[in-house]
Amino acid sequence: MSKRVLVTGGAGFLGSHLCERLVARGDEVLCVDNYFTGRRANVAHLFDQPNFELMRHDVTFPLYVEVDEIYNLACPASPIHYQHDPVQTTKTSVHGAINMLGLAKRTGARMFQASTSEIYGDPYQHPQTEDYWGNVNPIGRRSCYDEGKRCAETLCFDYHRQHGLRIKVARIFNTYGPRMHPHDGRVVSNFIVQALKGEPITIYGDGSQTRSFAYVDDLIEGFLRMMTSPDDVTGPINLGNPGEFTIRQLAELVVELTGSASPLVHRPLPENDPAQRRPDITRARLLLDWEPAVALRDGLARTIAYFDRLLGAEPPAPAA
Ligand code: NAD
Ligand code: UDP
Repeated sequence: MSKRVLVTGGAGFLGSHLCERLVARGDEVLCVDNYFTGRRANVAHLFDQPNFELMRHDVTFPLYVEVDEIYNLACPASPIHYQHDPVQTTKTSVHGAINMLGLAKRTGARMFQASTSEIYGDPYQHPQTEDYWGNVNPIGRRSCYDEGKRCAETLCFDYHRQHGLRIKVARIFNTYGPRMHPHDGRVVSNFIVQALKGEPITIYGDGSQTRSFAYVDDLIEGFLRMMTSPDDVTGPINLGNPGEFTIRQLAELVVELTGSASPLVHRPLPENDPAQRRPDITRARLLLDWEPAVALRDGLARTIAYFDRLLGAEPPAPAA
């Protein structure tokens, strides 16, 4: 019998790719989203599939459905979006987790929680292993996201210990690919859109801060492997690409791959911007037999091709 799978935040960037994979393998997929940063268009190609259903719903409110698995992805992921309404961001992570864990408790469903490398804050340990507790400012502008996600992890583990819930906590590092929103504000989409439009490429700070970028297909494979792993594999497990690049290197690579004439310009570094990020993925290798397969250069080329088509199809901006 096919599984009934709930994907919250399913109309977003990662959620839409996950829904696509689940539908293709024959699961009954219920995609739930309030369209804060996601779009119906991201999953429109699934509308005519009999095993796909889309529902507008905000996860801060309870949801009564019957499911076997829950992937809880609902939460804006880009700093400009999660800082737009920080109270709602924390509510989405905390109330959303409580509601989804409550649903998992009632239905006996497995619960996958999309956690984040932000758990580690501006880390003193490099690369980051899962047993590092992190260095997070509790009262800064990123805190609504970081602390909300940390509390969601706490809730997962308390529901696991207290109620025996089967949980899967994945700490996702920076992920990019087609269907990122062009105005999402994250670095990969910003740089590609700027390069394709011939606009200046905005490096925040001196560009020496590092990130590790994973291609979306690799991550979704990691999600699926984690959900089907044995019950004692609760996580947290880092999912990300250990290749580490400075933001300046990323800008230069995007310029090279797009053949753009865009200049590189500097803008102020946002508050509490982590200086470095790189996952130690030993645990994922060992427990999930997973590691990323797509190199940054190849993933960027595919993402550039996507944005090129998207921008080419956009109507010209209206006259002032
Ligand atoms: P995204 O913004 O594209 O997707 C988030 C989705 O959640 C959107 O469709 C949005 O409309 C929906 N949403 C937000 N608040 C909601 C609410 N209250 N109720 C219902 N839906 C709501 O971001 P993404 O990159 O696809 O991220 C998906 C998940 O993965 C998030 O939980 C994010 O924190 C996590 N994550 C992503 C990355 C990354 O690099 N992409 C890294 C770490 C963690
Ligand atoms: N960044 C940048 N220019 C941009 C957008 C982001 O230099 O136009 C930097 C940002 O300051 C951070 C890194 O790129 O150091 C990654 O930012 P993003 O918002 O993608 O993710 P996060 O900071 O959450 O890892």
